[in-house]
Amino acid sequence: MHSVYKQEMMKKNMFNAVAMSFAALSLLFTACSKQESSFQYNVDKFYDLEILRYDVPEFDSLSLQQKQLVYCLSEAALWGRDIFYDQNGRYNLRIRRTCEALYEKITNDQLPITDEEFLLFERYLKRVWFSNGIHHHYSEDKFLPDFSQEWFVAACEEAGVKYDPAILPVMFDPAVMPKRTTQQDGVDLVLNSAGNYYGEGVTQAEAEEWYAAHKDNSAEPLWIGLNSQLVKADNSQFSILNSQLVERVYKVGGLYGEALEHIVYWLREALKYAENDQQKLVIEKMIAFNETGDLKTFNEYCIAWVRDLDSRVDYVNGFTETYSDPLGITGTWESMVNFKDLAATKRTQIISANAQWFEDHSTTDQKYKKEEVKGVSAKVITAAVLAGACYPSTPIGINLPNANWVRKEYGSKSVTIDNIVHAYNEAAKGNGFNEEFMIDDETRALYEKYGSVCGDLHTDLHECVGHGSGKLMPGVTKDALKEHGSTIEEARADLFAMYYLADPKLVELGLMPDNEAYKAGYYQQMMNGLMTQLVRIEPGKDIEEAHMRNRQLIAGWIYDHATNREVEIIDKLEAKGKNSHDVPCEVKHYFKINDYEGLRRLYGELLAEIQRITSEGDYEAAKEMVEKYAVKVNPELHKEILARYKKLNLAPYKGFVNPVYTAVHDAEGNITDVKISFTESFVDQNLRYSRDYSPLPDIN
Ligand code: ZN
Repeated sequence: MHSVYKQEMMKKNMFNAVAMSFAALSLLFTACSKQESSFQYNVDKFYDLEILRYDVPEFDSLSLQQKQLVYCLSEAALWGRDIFYDQNGRYNLRIRRTCEALYEKITNDQLPITDEEFLLFERYLKRVWFSNGIHHHYSEDKFLPDFSQEWFVAACEEAGVKYDPAILPVMFDPAVMPKRTTQQDGVDLVLNSAGNYYGEGVTQAEAEEWYAAHKDNSAEPLWIGLNSQLVKADNSQFSILNSQLVERVYKVGGLYGEALEHIVYWLREALKYAENDQQKLVIEKMIAFNETGDLKTFNEYCIAWVRDLDSRVDYVNGFTETYSDPLGITGTWESMVNFKDLAATKRTQIISANAQWFEDHSTTDQKYKKEEVKGVSAKVITAAVLAGACYPSTPIGINLPNANWVRKEYGSKSVTIDNIVHAYNEAAKGNGFNEEFMIDDETRALYEKYGSVCGDLHTDLHECVGHGSGKLMPGVTKDALKEHGSTIEEARADLFAMYYLADPKLVELGLMPDNEAYKAGYYQQMMNGLMTQLVRIEPGKDIEEAHMRNRQLIAGWIYDHATNREVEIIDKLEAKGKNSHDVPCEVKHYFKINDYEGLRRLYGELLAEIQRITSEGDYEAAKEMVEKYAVKVNPELHKEILARYKKLNLAPYKGFVNPVYTAVHDAEGNITDVKISFTESFVDQNLRYSRDYSPLPDIN
């Protein structure tokens, strides 16, 4: 193995990634008519993953103070990276560090290995970086190296890389920690999930009992368990008498304290550049929460954050989404620094201003509607840095905070992340996906014309009015639907968006160009939910992830209830090759819409039922709905879709590299300017992050 070759190979990988254009992320509306620039969106590709780059338009339009603020918040974001690795599995940091140490030895030519061996090893490490651990970020399944344990052990020993033997079965034995977060019916969800939200040996029953006993039923409840790991008392230095389980709280001086200290340092730096007093308060509350772990402070932070509407720069930094905890309580660490995209924000302001109209005119039962929809703020943002659970794979919209009572009393903030959506669109241009899966040229032309506007509006409606709509009946709590809560909630927001996409109101408000445009969105949503999102599922596997479940739930229910053939799946016999009479034929399935208005009625019907399930906390109905439509996959159709997709040579999952921010200092150490650059590779970025932002010990 020669390092020269390695560099060439890396260049070649880059070149291939750039030269070919890749997949439509099936969850997105991907048509785009924006002008292509010279910006390089495609960075790297391995396994089923592709790395893209996002632009940060308008960065240069920020004031110096805003740039300084972005810089400090970006540093606070990057310092949390290790936390997410550790939450994803207690061996992840050890595995990442061992592999990185070996990688550095190899690339410094201190270990002679073959090109083939290097390729297999490097792409495993890239996969670990992508997943922030050893489980696939989406399927949650553990992935195994393509090199053997014997090779790995010998390489480490030859290179003088020390390793903990405990990582070997975790890396190589498929039976050890096979799933990051399991939602499988009938098994102990805690014991069977590899995530590190519970100490070793803690059972689901014990954890649920503990949460039930500590639940806060006050009007402004503390989110007990949001920022802690539950462990057996006798395994813990925080032993408390008469208690079987104890909390290890995420805070300075507690669990993950080494990382939170750095985050606090940079939040303090950020305070110097805060744009106004409200933003100052937000940052101060986050500092205090990280220092004390006090959940009342967290509530104060949430309220302050919701009220900070005037600042151009904003951020998320902390324990936020709960999808990865099998019981849906503990927050996964994430960060995203961003600033308002002023032009595009106008669009969502119009939707927000009409929130009450949408609430009043939806198909849901009167008694489940909010009398007064308040505080639905909406904006379009430009992401400046992604970290933790937002890196490298990132959402295209955010709706926070998650506490229901805060949302009810103080509202919520919703954002669409425009530069990320734009990067997806640009990277997917001309990749052949729509040609393969859309039923005819007419549909594809419609989609190419209106797909982008439908995609934007779908996200806006989902985030700005979908999640914020409806109310719970007295006594019903947010967690009433338990493990099906996330799927049902996403379905509710999606259905709200789908129903209104076709409403003449959007044309009247100037958001939709005409009364035909919605058809592009309807076709895409149904085709994706019924067929094309299956490209992300391995043969024989169920659908696990809440957003994917939601999409199949909607499409499957509608397909089942389309008794007047509003929609159907048809098959076409097509020649396998071109220009020949004697090539064998194959059957391909296509989704078809016969009656768009009828389809809208079905979206409305399902919206009413999903709202009823949510408002009543009808767990049994949620379970039945999810199990019937959201989980199982038609194996024949799945096989066909995968085969057709494979021929396109596209990667179904995307992630991003961040830009690099460099602060320019004067003689006194003050930041006088912040430069942004877009040239770092995925490998270089992750090695740098591990070198410069890795404060946690191996074992936490
Ligand atoms: Zn959502």
